[in-house]
Amino acid sequence: MGEFELIRQYFLPLVRPHGSHSVVVGPGDDCAVQNIPFGSDLVFSIDTLVEGVHFPVDYCPDYLGWRALAVAASDLAAMGAEPACFTLALTLPEADESWLRDFALGLGRAADSFGLTLAGGDTTRGPLTLSLQVHGLVEEGRAIRRSGARAGDLIVVSGTLGDAGAALDYLGSCNPAADEQHVLERYHHPEPRLKLGVALRHLATAAIDVSDGLLADLNHILEASSVGASIERARVPVSQPLARLKDSAAIEYALHSGDDYELCATIPETRWAKAPESLKQQLTVIGVIESAIGLRLDGAEVVSGSEATGFDHFRRDA
Ligand code: ADP
Ligand code: MG
Repeated sequence: MGEFELIRQYFLPLVRPHGSHSVVVGPGDDCAVQNIPFGSDLVFSIDTLVEGVHFPVDYCPDYLGWRALAVAASDLAAMGAEPACFTLALTLPEADESWLRDFALGLGRAADSFGLTLAGGDTTRGPLTLSLQVHGLVEEGRAIRRSGARAGDLIVVSGTLGDAGAALDYLGSCNPAADEQHVLERYHHPEPRLKLGVALRHLATAAIDVSDGLLADLNHILEASSVGASIERARVPVSQPLARLKDSAAIEYALHSGDDYELCATIPETRWAKAPESLKQQLTVIGVIESAIGLRLDGAEVVSGSEATGFDHFRRDA
């Protein structure tokens, strides 16, 4: 099967010709064309996944398709952007049709679920690597940045943390029990908090998606905003399956492990008080922004460069 036949058969079906995605020219020309409505900012981000680094060797292609787009779309959620479209640069060792079918299935389910249409891509031969660029739209000047946190803002997180990190301990399990299955599902099928991100646009002063670990990612907000924070261990939300699987260690997964793709945001107290109940139910307050630089966990300073850092590809011991 040639490159163009491969694209036609497996990827063109992921193009949604109608809808709110603003793509005027999709795959097939030299570039894709997206219309940017007057008064909107284009928000875009690219993520690369390398086999053996970002996902296990021989990872299920169906899960990979979902995961790749979810990881990319999560950055749109963090900025409060409405999802529009994506491009896919795919490097494959060979044109394995059953692999391609399953990959396109997972990718297509994710695209439909997140409201993203495929606008174009690039297909090459080599070690299995995927780069996905996602485009979103936001009201001009309204993208939620990392740099807006102010002393007194509450720190909130969505959902529960630590499940996806704990799942790495069970990836090889042939017959996972129910609790193990719960955390594995969080790893295989992360849900980018796109609707929540849009809802936070008029509420949050700063936001980030938790991809590397809560402490590491919150630290990015603190550095960008030139502020500090105090958070409480007991407030960090942990799922019941994770609590049962890991007992007292569950909280360590919630603080340090990544891959959950929940949102962490800062919200002024007055706005939080007036926020709709439906929104508050999706979030847990874990602490407060302070003017004193540094991150304090139950009053003790988290030493930056060790506890606060998540995964870093270029760190010597990585
Ligand atoms: P060019 O040589 O002009 O860069 P390509 O030959 O790389 O174009 O691609 C031809 C068309 O096929 C382009 O419109 C491109 O967006 C699309 N395309 C290539 N690979 C993919 C893919 N994996 N998914 C979707 N569209 C793709
Ligand atoms: Mg060209």
